[in-house]
Amino acid sequence: MQKRGAILLSSSNRKPNIATRFRKIGQQSFWTQQPRVFSIRCYRSFTIMHGNPFVKRAHEHLFTTSTNSKYTALRNFHSSKSVSMDASSKKGAIAVIGAGPAGLAAARYFTAEDSPFDCQVFEQGDDLGGTWRLSEFVDTDDKGRKVHSSMYKNLRTNLPKEIMCYPDFPFPTYPESYVPSEKVLKYLLDFASHYQLRKIIKFNRSVVQVRPFKKNDDDTVNWEIKTRDYLTDEEFTDYFEGVAVCNGHHSEPVIPEIEGKQEFDGFIMHSHAYRESCPFKGQRVLVVGAGPSGLDIALEVSKVALRVSLSHHLKSSQINFKGKSVQQVTDILRLAPGKRVEFVDGTKDEFDAIIYCTGYKNSFPFLHEDCKITTDGFGVEPLYKHMINIEHPTMCLTGLVTFVCPFQLLDLQARFFYSLMSGKFQCADKREMYRELKADQHWRRNKGRCAFGHLFLNNNIFSCHSHAHTGYGPRQAHKLGALQQEYYDELAKIAHIKSIDVVVSKLGLESTKRIYSDLCSFREAKFKLLDDKNYLEL
Ligand code: FAD
Repeated sequence: MQKRGAILLSSSNRKPNIATRFRKIGQQSFWTQQPRVFSIRCYRSFTIMHGNPFVKRAHEHLFTTSTNSKYTALRNFHSSKSVSMDASSKKGAIAVIGAGPAGLAAARYFTAEDSPFDCQVFEQGDDLGGTWRLSEFVDTDDKGRKVHSSMYKNLRTNLPKEIMCYPDFPFPTYPESYVPSEKVLKYLLDFASHYQLRKIIKFNRSVVQVRPFKKNDDDTVNWEIKTRDYLTDEEFTDYFEGVAVCNGHHSEPVIPEIEGKQEFDGFIMHSHAYRESCPFKGQRVLVVGAGPSGLDIALEVSKVALRVSLSHHLKSSQINFKGKSVQQVTDILRLAPGKRVEFVDGTKDEFDAIIYCTGYKNSFPFLHEDCKITTDGFGVEPLYKHMINIEHPTMCLTGLVTFVCPFQLLDLQARFFYSLMSGKFQCADKREMYRELKADQHWRRNKGRCAFGHLFLNNNIFSCHSHAHTGYGPRQAHKLGALQQEYYDELAKIAHIKSIDVVVSKLGLESTKRIYSDLCSFREAKFKLLDDKNYLEL
């Protein structure tokens, strides 16, 4: 199928088709009409392609159009180091930022056979897989890149593979339900091969700036995206009609400010830099935070450490360590000289190392302020349905909602955005989107607690709506938990697409509940899905 209005004059991976494509599409929609959008890219290949008459004509045309102040990109072209370019009408060009599970899900739909879009994925790393690609580095890598992945050795998933997969792309028939991280990475590589996604991913390309770009007098907004190649240091500017921000949410550690940290002589790190337990052999270790990573790391480290304490503010009885040598302690009051730690209940102890498993911030350093997206590190706004930029609905930010089944959710959000961009539905008007956002924020502030938190320890996990507690804090701005199915169904209804099967949220909630109630052996369970609502524990 002919992509909507795409004219590629020069692109290293499409060279053989250029003349053909240009004749086929370009003469009709580019030369005889006022180009509605075009883009300049700096490719090394231009000098070679310049000899091509079609390309030459496009080149001249673009330069004569350069007086139009809207297309300031052309000026960038003049000053560009690398004399090459790719111009396209780009009606229907979509940028995806990141080639982790979210970016791959988006790329799959935007590159599908019947998709009218051209799609380009920018990935700062040298391969795909996002956080599932274990890094041997902890801070920056050998190319000076900030390490993105928070993966560690021996990690096994905390969701069974039967529901952790994308909806129509199951994991291979491994005997276990909770698979090691290597198998998840392999799964993502297989997914990318199956949908031939590699060819549209630009690796080692960090997105450094995204800003809205008005292309017409009718206020239609496009996106100007600046990227940098880590290997060559070249900078590029491209223009797109839509952008899916899929940069992940587990890379910017939250490190609590605790009094006395300067005096503390022990080793302090965040779980983002944790790779394996062996450095803690024979040590006294304090793990801070009882989220899934904190529990998992405490358990893992307890196999080699002299002793492990887990500092948290849940009720101790809520976590079942089944006699494993992990002592549960209260929140830290302060750190003291030597290796001393004082806790809020007045107790004191000594530790050689502290591992903060205190979560991650949402961060979008590349979004220009004109994108109008703000965040306090946790809540991101203004978003419609936790994903669509209300100020510029051709931008979506995926994967922000938490306590969900991530891959299923990312697939649903990708389909939602694809349908929106395809014009299959329209978002509510701006005022209505803001009204919904405010209502959600108000609800969270006042009675949000019922949707998560202690809920997982309550047998009646689905009857949460009637419980009103003290309200959500900032970290729960996008938490769903027991409300996930409602959210999935709502997205599906709005976009006229298939929702996620009920069995996914049902088994997902059961699995998450077991992290706490059966921490030491919940991964031994094996499940089989019977139909879209029911599962069987084998
Ligand atoms: P990521 O996987 O983080 O991928 C984001 C990608 O964007 C990366 O490749 C990154 O390099 C790229 N990127 C970022 N910034 C830029 C930029 N400026 N320019 C270009 N590229 C950029 N989920 C589960 O379903 N089951 C589990 O068992 C599970 N366990 C987890 C354990 C750990 C330790 C962690 C950290 C997470 C776990 N998760 C789990 C959640 C996990 O984050 C999701 O499964 C999934 O990886 C989210 O995908 P993503 O694409 O949104 O983000």
